[in-house]
Amino acid sequence: MSFPVRKFDAVIVGAGGSGLRASLQLAEAGYNVAVLSKVFPTRSHTVAAQGGVGAALGNMGEDSWHWHMYDTVKGSDWLGDQDAIEFMCREAPKSILELEHFGMPFDRNEDGTVYQRPFGGHMQNFGAGPAVQRSCCAADRTGHAMLHTLYQRNVRANANFFVEWMALDLIRDDSGQVVGVTAMEMESGDVFIFHAKAVLFATGGAGRVYASSTNAFINTGDGLGIVSRAGIPLEDMEFWQFHPTGVSGAGVLITEGVRGEGGYLLNKDGERFMERYAPNAKDLASRDVVARAMATEIKEGRGCGEGADHVLLKLDHLGEQLIDSKLPGIREIAKKFANVDPARDPIPVVPTCHYMMGGIPTNYRGEVVAPRGSDMEAVVPGLYAAGECACASVHGANRLGTNSLTDLLVFGKSAGNSTIEFLKENKSHKELPSDAGELTRARLNRLNNQTGGESVSEVGAALRDTMQRTCGVFRFPDLLESGVREIKEVEQRVARTEIKDKSKVFNTARVEALELDNLIEVAVASLVSAEARKESRGAHDRADFAERDDVNWLKHSLWFKEGSKLDYKAVHMEPLTVETIAPKVRTY
Ligand SMILES: Cc1cc2nc3c(=O)[nH]c(=O)nc-3n(C[C@H](O)[C@H](O)[C@H](O)COP(=O)(O)OP(=O)(O)OC[C@H]3O[C@@H](n4cnc5c(N)ncnc54)[C@H](O)[C@@H]3O)c2cc1C
Repeated sequence: MSFPVRKFDAVIVGAGGSGLRASLQLAEAGYNVAVLSKVFPTRSHTVAAQGGVGAALGNMGEDSWHWHMYDTVKGSDWLGDQDAIEFMCREAPKSILELEHFGMPFDRNEDGTVYQRPFGGHMQNFGAGPAVQRSCCAADRTGHAMLHTLYQRNVRANANFFVEWMALDLIRDDSGQVVGVTAMEMESGDVFIFHAKAVLFATGGAGRVYASSTNAFINTGDGLGIVSRAGIPLEDMEFWQFHPTGVSGAGVLITEGVRGEGGYLLNKDGERFMERYAPNAKDLASRDVVARAMATEIKEGRGCGEGADHVLLKLDHLGEQLIDSKLPGIREIAKKFANVDPARDPIPVVPTCHYMMGGIPTNYRGEVVAPRGSDMEAVVPGLYAAGECACASVHGANRLGTNSLTDLLVFGKSAGNSTIEFLKENKSHKELPSDAGELTRARLNRLNNQTGGESVSEVGAALRDTMQRTCGVFRFPDLLESGVREIKEVEQRVARTEIKDKSKVFNTARVEALELDNLIEVAVASLVSAEARKESRGAHDRADFAERDDVNWLKHSLWFKEGSKLDYKAVHMEPLTVETIAPKVRTY
């Protein structure tokens, strides 16, 4: 055997909100579960979530899971799978109560119930309005509170954490069943095989394929790269969310909660321009709508500042007291990264890459599905995925704010439960194939032996620049075509990168080179899928096909690494118990 082997019932790759929610299910059920993470669990990107977690608790006025479902289907521009969306919205209130009982320090109302704030695209009465207060929060540090709560709970349940361990490749046997992963201990540089009955990916997003991103540096799409190298397709990769309010120049996020609490956007004329683009929801329209409105204002010369390259987010009228109690982190971020005190002056903001709607295809049970024969959604035995790396698909073509944290809780738990069911039926480990670890060995050997190659940082910069220029908020046919060409050239360069430092101990150069292998799969998948989709839907806005085209394009894209080929599969229009929410024009 090529690498030393460690055995567990299940391996979870990723210790963000989704990984920790899944591992909690398994550890509490008494399974021997390994949780791998590139960083200490509470430093996963979930820690940065500010605005809140969506659930129709109805603590601040009337609400229902069915309204939440309607908003999510509409937000997805009808590309979301309605069975998965119903499941998430029905389960959401339960998952909040669970978290509350785990000790999550939510903000409270006078009567002791969880405080909820309004958020973009969340409405009463099946979209008719007015805005509903659905986002449960802990000030503007909701993700921080959530991650710490879940981590503590995992420690109590004796989950085994492997901190600063990087998963590299998937191991499947001849029948296609998943039997483990290879992973590198970053401290020593040693590689091990984690032999498991089941593997669950919770590796989070990949926002680092763009030059300007709200995402952490570790968000390099590792889970997506790993499964695509193992023959599993990636779903709906053309759909990237640009958050309207990243700090201009820095990319750091200013939560939509600012607008939820009453902040609004201004152009250089001091005009509250969202009133023109979304007369009803205004600044609380869906994210793609607000981001496009901002990009249009800037493009048409109504941007602010010397370069006329941003707009302003005004919140001083909320008063210092509210800002300090409900948005303290934002005040800090604005001072640090924009050099303004938002209690006095507006914050300069631009749309910034924020969230990946696509990912590893799963059903609502968190089982990974891929085409086999005529079945477009055959379950891959032993493989699960949850959280931002997965595509269930609840967010479709555009995610509503607060629905990702909901996704982590609901699908983290359901993927954990599905894994438990599988473990009950598969009591012993399947044998490792004779070539286990060979792909990893080959990748590491190439890096160790490569001479005269390009630096990882140069090639990485070319990748991010290509995505930023050719696959942004607005999409133009000529740019998409040249983007596909350029990214395939970058792909060739990725295969020839060189690291000068070949040492083993804490070699971050090697880690970055291995991450680049994953970023490139994400970038190629995104550009190829985007170039092919000849319509505008949600976050995918084409200049040459301005309308949504349900006749030809109400379908999910599937990108396969092998030959960089595309296929398509049907959207699940049938919910679990209620009637289909039929497609109509999406206005706010
Ligand atoms: C700044 C910011 C604010 C946000 N605010 C909100 C909000 O208010 N509400 C909301 O609903 N959503 C919000 N989102 C989105 C949401 O926070 C994320 O989608 C979500 O937290 C992702 O959680 P996750 O569990 O999927 O992954 P993450 O929390 O990103 O965790 C990924 C984990 O995978 C591990 N990992 C990755 N690759 C490997 C590998 N190769 N080997 C081992 N481990 C690996 C990492 O170490 C990490 O532990 C926000 C996002 C950002 C960036």
